[in-house]
This record gives sequence, C-alpha cells and structure tokens, in this order.
Amino acid sequence: MEMSNQKHVYKFGNRTAEGNAAMKNLLGGKGANLAEMNLIGVPVPAGFTITTEVCNDYYIRGRETTIEAIKTEVEEGVRFLEEAMGASFGSNENPLLLSVRSGSRASMPGMMDTVLNLGLNEQAVEGIAKKSGNDRFAWDSYRRFIQMYGDVVMGMKPATKEDHDPFEVIIDELKEEKGVELDTDLSTDDLREMVRRFKAAVKDKTGKDFPADPWEQLWGSILAVFDSWGNDRAVYYRKLNNIPDEWGTAVNVQAMVFGNMGENSATGVAFTRDAGTGEDIFNGEYLINAQGEDVVAGIRTPRQITKEGSKRWAVLANISEEERLAKYPSLEEVMPDLYKELDEYQQKLEDHYKDMQDLEFTIQDGRLWMLQTRNGKRTGAAMVRIATEMLKDGMLDEKTALLRMEPNKLDELLHPVFDQKAIEKAEVVAKGLPASPGAATGQIVYHADDAEEWASQGKEVILVRVETSPEDLKGMNLANGILTARGGMTSHAAVVARGMGKCCVSGAGTVKIDYRARTMKVDGHVYKEGDWISLNGSTGEVYDGKIATIDPELSGNFGELMELADKHATMLVRTNADTPHDSQVARNFGAQGIGLCRTEHMFFEGDRIKAMREMILASDEAGRRKALEKLLPIQRSDFEGIFEAMHDLPVTVRLLDPPLHEFVPHEEENQKEMADEMGISVEEVKQKVEDLSEMNPMLGHRGCRLGNTYPEISEMQARAIIEAALNLKAKGVNAKPEIMIPLTGTLKEMKMQEDIVRNTAEQVFRERGERIDYLVGTMIEVPRAALTADEIAESAEFFSFGTNDLTQMTFGYSRDDAGKFLPVYLKKGILKHDPFQVLDQEGVGQLMETAVEKGRKTRPDIKIGICGEHGGEPSSVEFCNKLGFNYVSCSPFRVPIARLAAAQGAIRQNNR
Ligand code: PEP
Ligand code: MG
Repeated sequence: MEMSNQKHVYKFGNRTAEGNAAMKNLLGGKGANLAEMNLIGVPVPAGFTITTEVCNDYYIRGRETTIEAIKTEVEEGVRFLEEAMGASFGSNENPLLLSVRSGSRASMPGMMDTVLNLGLNEQAVEGIAKKSGNDRFAWDSYRRFIQMYGDVVMGMKPATKEDHDPFEVIIDELKEEKGVELDTDLSTDDLREMVRRFKAAVKDKTGKDFPADPWEQLWGSILAVFDSWGNDRAVYYRKLNNIPDEWGTAVNVQAMVFGNMGENSATGVAFTRDAGTGEDIFNGEYLINAQGEDVVAGIRTPRQITKEGSKRWAVLANISEEERLAKYPSLEEVMPDLYKELDEYQQKLEDHYKDMQDLEFTIQDGRLWMLQTRNGKRTGAAMVRIATEMLKDGMLDEKTALLRMEPNKLDELLHPVFDQKAIEKAEVVAKGLPASPGAATGQIVYHADDAEEWASQGKEVILVRVETSPEDLKGMNLANGILTARGGMTSHAAVVARGMGKCCVSGAGTVKIDYRARTMKVDGHVYKEGDWISLNGSTGEVYDGKIATIDPELSGNFGELMELADKHATMLVRTNADTPHDSQVARNFGAQGIGLCRTEHMFFEGDRIKAMREMILASDEAGRRKALEKLLPIQRSDFEGIFEAMHDLPVTVRLLDPPLHEFVPHEEENQKEMADEMGISVEEVKQKVEDLSEMNPMLGHRGCRLGNTYPEISEMQARAIIEAALNLKAKGVNAKPEIMIPLTGTLKEMKMQEDIVRNTAEQVFRERGERIDYLVGTMIEVPRAALTADEIAESAEFFSFGTNDLTQMTFGYSRDDAGKFLPVYLKKGILKHDPFQVLDQEGVGQLMETAVEKGRKTRPDIKIGICGEHGGEPSSVEFCNKLGFNYVSCSPFRVPIARLAAAQGAIRQNNR
C-alpha cells in the first residue's frame, strides 16, 4: 500500500464536509458524525479527521514516514481551520487553539488519549488573555494544556498506581502554600507560578523543554493518539468487546471553543428525549461560564435547559419559583434566542438519526456550537417507550423499531428494582454472579427451614447458603432473595431462582459461611442471623443493610412491542416451568407452551420427598413399586394442574433426571424419618445412602439410565401423564403432552424408554376406552446423541437441546465446579463468555448443527427446540433461529426477552 496515493485527511466546517455518517470505518464514529452534522446544517467547530488507515500505516511504517505522508494534507487542514475560525495557528495576537481526540469505529469510552488547548505558549497565552479579557481563563487553559500534553505525549504519567501524578503533586503543594481548598481559589498569579513549576517538572523528568512550537505540539499529539490505540487499556477493552486490532483509530483535530469565556458563554449536555422514562421531552443541563467537565463534576449545581424541565426540577428539589428564577433559571429563560437555536438542532438531529440523541454543546461568547451527537444510552423502560412512540409517529418502521431494542434490557421491566435514592447511599460488601435479576432486601437466614419459619411470621428474609439443593426449594421460594457462596450461572440456586423470577446472587466467593454459628464473614465483617442485607441480582452486588425496593410497572407500550415481536418471529417461545403457578406467570408473559417440566422438582414439597426417598432407597423392584404407588396420584394431580394452566398448548414433560445425591437424606434427622417410614433401622438407611453415593453424580446414575435400570419409574410417570391428560379431556380441557427422555446417548437407550412409554399409554387407553395424542422425544445433551442424531431420530419425534449438560460435556467443565476457574478464564480472556450463559456457537453449536441436520435427514418434520438456560439468552436464541428451530424454551421471566430475540433473529435472517 502506497501511503501518498490515498486521501488521508477529511475536512469539515462551515456546513461543509468531505466525509459523512456512512464513513465510520474510515473516519471513526466521532469523525463521521462531526462531518454529518455539518452536512445537515448544524454548526460544529471546524476540524479535520485523519483516517484510521493512517493509524494502521503508522504501526507498520513508524513516525517519520507517517508524518511525511500526511504532512501536506494536515497543513492544508490547519489552513482551512484558520479560515473557518478567523484565527491563526501560531499567532501571538489571535491564536487558533486546537483539540486532538481519538475516535474509532466502535465506541471505546475513555480508553485512548485526548489533548485540549493545543497551540498555547508564553506569547499565545497573553494573546488569549487579551482577546478574552480574562487572564485567569487564559492561564488556566495553559496549565491544563501542559498537564495533558505532559501526561499524554511526554510520558509524565506515573508508571505505577502507587506513584503520584507529578502535576497533581505540584497543584496540591501550591494550594497548601496558598492556604486554599479548591483549584478555583487559586489566583492568576498562582496559575502563572503553576505553569512555571509544571515546565520545570517536565524538564527535570524528561530532560526536554516543554515545546513552545505549535506545530511540534500538534505532531506530538497526533502521534500520541495513534500510540494510545496500542496502550494496555485499549488493547484489553478491544479484547473484551471483540473489536479487531486492525480497525485502528482516527484522529480528530478540531478548533477549540470555550464555554468558560465569561457570562455570555456556557456549556451543557442534553438529550432529545428523557433517557430514564422515554418521554418525548427535550431535556438537559447547562452551566454559565464553565467547561464541559464542570457540568459532570458536580462542583456547581447545573441548571435545566428548558423552562418546563427547570420547573419540574424545582418541585423535586423543593425550591420555590422565586428562588428558581433568581438562582437557577433555565437556558430558555436566560438566553432565549440561543435556546431556540439549540432546540431546532436537537430536533433536526433526532429526525436525522431517527433515534434519541445525546448531545454536547458549548456557547462561546454568544455563539452556539454543537460538539458531539450520538445515540443516547437509556433505561429499559425508555428503550421500549421511545421505539414504540417513534414507530407510531412513522419515524421508524416495524423492523427497525424491533432491531433497536436490546432484549436483555427488557429484564428491568419485569423485576422489582432498588429505589434510586436509597441505592446511591448503599455500601457494596461483596460481589457474586448476577444469577437471577431483580432487587431484594431482607434479614439473613442460613437454613431453608428457617426461611420458611421466618416468612410464616411475616418477616422478609434472604436465604444465604454455601450452595442450595432441591431440599431448599420451599425456603428459596419464600425468601425475597438468595445468596450463595459457591456455584455458577447454571448452579441449582441460579436455575431455580430464575425459574421463580426470584433475585439471586450466586458464587460470591468472598462470603464465608458458618452454618453452625449461623454467621457469614465478609471482608472482615461478621453478619449474624437476622442482620439485614440487600442483593442486586442484575449486577451480582451484595449490599449492607436494608434498601427500599419498588415494583416495576408494565406499561402498555410493552404489550404492543411484544405483539409486534410475535408478528415478525418465526420461532415460538415456550417456558421451563414445574408448577401451575409458574406456568401461569409464563403464559401471562406470552409463553406458547412448556418446553421443559422438570419432574424431579415436584418431589420436594411436603411429604412427597419421603415417598421419593423411599423409592430411591428401596432395595428391589417390589419396594420401588410400593413407593411409586404413593407417587402416582401426586404426580397425576400435579400434571393436571400444569396441563390445565397450559390448556391448548404443548407441554413437554421430562421423565425423572435426578442426580440421586440430590434426593438421598444426608442429615441424621431425615435418615431417622426414613427409617421409621420404611420400617428399617437407621444403620440400614445409612448403609443405603453410602451405597448410593457417587464420585461423579452428574455423570452417574441419572437421566434415562435411571429409567432403563428401573423401568417401573418411567412406567409410573408415563401413566401419570396420560391419565392426567385423559382426566382433563373428560372436563373438556385440551392437554397436549410431549414426553421427553433425558440424557439419551444411544438409540437403544431411547428406544427402550419409548417402548415403556408407548406400552404404558396403550395400557391406559385400553383401561379408559379413550385416547389422546402425545409425542415421545428426547433431550439432546450428551455429545454422542448429537453425533448419532440420525439414529436417535428413528425413535424420537422431537429433539430438545439440553445445552446445560451439552456444554458441560462438550467442554468437560463441571456445572457445579466451574465457578472455581471460569472467572479467571474470563478475566484472562481465555474465554470470551461464560459458556453456561452464552451458547458456545463454535463448539457446542457445531454439535447442535450436526444433530439438526442428521435428525431432519431421518425425520424431516422432527420438532426441534432448546430448553437449556441458553434458551433465554439473546445471541443464543438468534443462533437457534438460524438453525431453523421450532421453538426455544426459557424460564418464565425470560420469555419476553426470548420473544424479542426471536423476532430480531428472523428479521436479520430475512435481511441477509
Ligand atoms: C440441560 O441440561 O440443558 C437441561 C435443560 O437439563 P438440566 O439443566 O435439568 O440438567
Ligand atoms: Mg440436563
């Protein structure tokens, strides 16, 4: 590539531009938008953008070649700026000052370097002082420039975090000598002295004089910004966000404008709509005689831009109308003409970009300049409202409105949240995984039965466990939230809590729990039973004390959005639910059936566990059948409840898949209970428990291995399912059962289960003299099942991918123990995502693709779905759409997220 043949520099200013918004790859996001603003008639301080290609060449060819290649164009760019701004670069009387900023294709906030106020030296600073009539402003600008340039270009930045920034040290010394608290209390003479000391420090540390030549300053800054593309922070950020190194950064050189030149100057930030609620109201804050960072820094109280906003603010701040007008008037009231102009631009920019904009502006001496526009960040509620309103206004079409939405953000609309004011004062004491979203506050209990007892007394509790087991189910359900010290995103606690829509933080490793003492130790502090804590299940944060929460509101827009999503989606969304209540919740969220009913979850309530344990502990078939007889009516009535809640929609019931260790009684008290129940000695129970213990329960006697070794279990379950469906049919309720075999690895395993199910069903049909339709299919969660899916499809009428187990077995990462190393793997970048959360499309996905292809070869109309946790994760849902799945299934509270993701997948697929 010959550098000199390309165009390297794109100018903009005076409402003309050589680039435009479509050129983000070459000009970076910032440069492209600055050009675009000029093209649509929005005033922007003139400037030019050096392309990302130059950055890449710089890394290959180095300093001298780069300067040589772009020198003429940069000089031409500066001349253009001089003309546009009516000032001269290097002049002593009327100096042009510049900013030099990075700007890559993707936003990389704060990762790269910036130099402001470039062009100042001992002479120019006097020129600026005279021109602005403000000595202090001129010298403050100069000292800021030396500080920035010294840090960014001359390497004055401290090498380690223990070292102090030499410039900050000087500022502190000076303030102490002068006996003042704030930088703003320093006089102009103090600032002159500061500049002198800054320069001495530069000479001392680098052996070089601080450059007075503006051109030397400019080249130093441009190359330093290119260098900052390669700094550790930027490289790490790119790795995390999957931004290729080859993209490079552009450099934007722009004329400085100042909002701190006096009472006729101001600076502010604004949003074209309310970023919190989505209301279509222009809003923002400004400060007279200030610089951009002053608005954000919170030293002075910013004022509202619009009169309406100002009045609303005054009400909230408890400020009278007189006081408001006197002390905090709006821009609309203080500078009505400039406000009108600003209002015009904000409308223009939103119309142009067709999205809510986040703007920065500066008023320099009575003239308005727009400094930046970008699509504004917003809450989930605002996201939904803005997109639906823009759709109604005809600003967006349906597909664009749907694609605008971030599915995961819908979550905020479905769970309680912390009161904003309360959370600002709260103290984070630990951090775990954001296992199940929402906010919860309550008193600590360490045992599930205590949770039950306390809750029955009307207390709010948080259940804190090292990890949970199915025995804790009831306590979990009654707690406001769950905190575990161990376990990942698919740990028992996480999966169950998500299913319940209950806030959960899992795997908070710094929490040390002592069950006996009923205490936990976090960061040196000991929390006793009954102490208050709060959890944020969306961030994994654990807070000290009680924090108020508020319930979310599901607005009308939300429902409309969901209907729109269904209109465009081609894949259905089902839910994972084990109770009539969960089924109803999911149905309310729009679930089109149940994709996974985990029958083992039904056995933990009340006395059921006893019958279940009796079955597991039985030494022979006769013993098991006796226990199964007790379980049959219980199961049947459970299924009736679920089928009824899901009437007319398919319900996939999975036969028993329990790693046995989850069920056997480990505690003395429970063992004694079982001994009484079964008429045997405690010793015998203990012996049985020992016999049942496995080294690797997840790879042990579970899934269809259980049903194939003890066929009577599958037989009982098949009977319960078919009888329940027939009972409902008699009541006029249409049940559509789909019976699913877990953990299948070979055709024989599957076929054997199919035969048991079908024989049992025929038997029941004969007994009742009536039939119903049902399907028999399998989970695909063992790699071998995926690889031999053509054979398995001879027996299975549907496949449902159990990507929790499939991920576990493909990676060889234990679902229960991955919490030990996964966080490190993520931090070191060995893995980009937790594969238990975000489907590994490359590896696990390949197995899925193979299974779909092979399964369809044998049985073209085979129904295909997913019921692992990934069924509610947007990128995974989109992947399933690509493979042509019939449905995804996820926990009730993720149903809306999956519906939106399914629509987006279908739209993007069609656009391709
Ligand atoms: C799975 O393995 O993905 C699955 C849904 O089953 P479970 O999580 O119950 O093992
Ligand atoms: Mg599984």
